[in-house]
Amino acid sequence: MKPLLILHFLLAGYIFLPAQTLRLPRIAIAGLGIESSTFSPALTTEEAFHARYGKDVFKAYPFFAEDAPLRKQAVWVPALVGKSLPGGAVTRQAYESLVNKTLDSPKKNGPFDGLYFDIHGAMSVVGLEDPEGDFITRIRKVIGTKTLISTSMDLHGNVSWRLAQHTDIITCYRMAPHEDAMETKQRAVTNLLNRLASGKGKPAYKARIVVPILLPGEKTSTRIEPGKSLYQAVAPASVQPGIVDAAIWIGYAWADEPRNHAVVMVTGDDREAVTRTAEQLAASFWKVRNEFVFVAPTGTLAESLDKALASSKKPFFISDSGDNPTAGGAGDVTWTLTEILKRPEFKEQNGPVLIYASIPGPELVQKAIAAGVGNPVEGYAGAKVDSRYAPPVKLSGTVHSIEYGDKDAEVEVVVKVGSVYVIVTQKRKPYHNEIDFTRLGLQPRKSDIAVVKIGYLQPELYDMRADWILALTPGGVDQNLERLEYKHIQRPMYPFDKNMKDPDLSAKLVPLADE
Ligand SMILES: [Zn+2]
Repeated sequence: MKPLLILHFLLAGYIFLPAQTLRLPRIAIAGLGIESSTFSPALTTEEAFHARYGKDVFKAYPFFAEDAPLRKQAVWVPALVGKSLPGGAVTRQAYESLVNKTLDSPKKNGPFDGLYFDIHGAMSVVGLEDPEGDFITRIRKVIGTKTLISTSMDLHGNVSWRLAQHTDIITCYRMAPHEDAMETKQRAVTNLLNRLASGKGKPAYKARIVVPILLPGEKTSTRIEPGKSLYQAVAPASVQPGIVDAAIWIGYAWADEPRNHAVVMVTGDDREAVTRTAEQLAASFWKVRNEFVFVAPTGTLAESLDKALASSKKPFFISDSGDNPTAGGAGDVTWTLTEILKRPEFKEQNGPVLIYASIPGPELVQKAIAAGVGNPVEGYAGAKVDSRYAPPVKLSGTVHSIEYGDKDAEVEVVVKVGSVYVIVTQKRKPYHNEIDFTRLGLQPRKSDIAVVKIGYLQPELYDMRADWILALTPGGVDQNLERLEYKHIQRPMYPFDKNMKDPDLSAKLVPLADE
């Protein structure tokens, strides 16, 4: 070793470390995340992904902060990471543009020891099947098959055989709502680093099992049984000797492709442990299939409003679930709001306080700004994207508040119509946290009823609710799956095919990317 080089290692402190840590691994970061419904007329364009490039990618992950331990364990080469709110299918043009921009970086900066692939797994693209499978295949063409890829996903994503083959380690969330999202991403990165640092490289075995079940997320929350026990078994299964990770995907119910179904995958070096563990998880899922029920009582909208009005529990939350924008609904279906405004109970200013979140209406937002807070305003909102169930809704009321600067909504106004406070947005936005309401001068805790375009309540709303019902309203993410017309999913599929036989739940070993 040349004197200068010895000095360099001494200074860096590397001289005391084992040989394989002399060089930090080079790891690329890439990924696109969206949950997109093919049963919604909405389309998603490139801007919706808020793509981050290069160093800006680190800001999406607390564990990649400048001084975080993981940041120092590799030479990270972020390409592009984009996350969109759920919505309609992604246009082919947006997908191609984002994929090509992603590939620019690895083309210039390779070779890599590893790649962290951060996806949701339920992206639908117009005219393209299995987009995540297509995406990873195109990444492999650039980085080659030797690079170790570790993938993290949403448990509502889909795992095609192609995606399973091209990734080396794969995992997903173990909680719904996804309170463990960041922990899951960190686990995927840590697994990748551990395999590279130990010199073990790719796990030798990847077991995959298709579980022919397709259920909405609102029946498979891990807050309640049987989802709770099913998912509680995943972490202990994943820390057994010979196993690197284990995961169960519920899959995504509002797209119509052969890959839409539940999947179990286990990766590791011990063939027997990997296959046995995958088969145990798949069998336990199949066994409880009849026990999945909605996370809250359900009813028609009329039944839900009757129940809320009669209840002494305030606030009474009603999920307007068919157009839940965080599952892929257009978010601008006016049917529910139209029905609420027809009800005589809400016609008077001093009637029961109902907050409606929310409806996009850019023209009405402009009119409200022109009118100013406290003044009357009248105009139409919603049904630009999805007018299948009701036309734009006419709101005639008083401007209660105006707020600027939200990342998704851009501008939000509250229009009070009778005793109903309607949140009207420039662009669609999910309302998941208390501050989303209080910043608009609304007090959900003191209101009688809060109707939100959502499925299961996110934690803050769940904590706030005195009572809750899931209204089975129409929209692109109709919770009543049997009302949807599937043509391409695999059959038989639970619960669509009554009396189906027990499926083959034996583990299939997926070949490594280089085989
Ligand atoms: Zn999800």
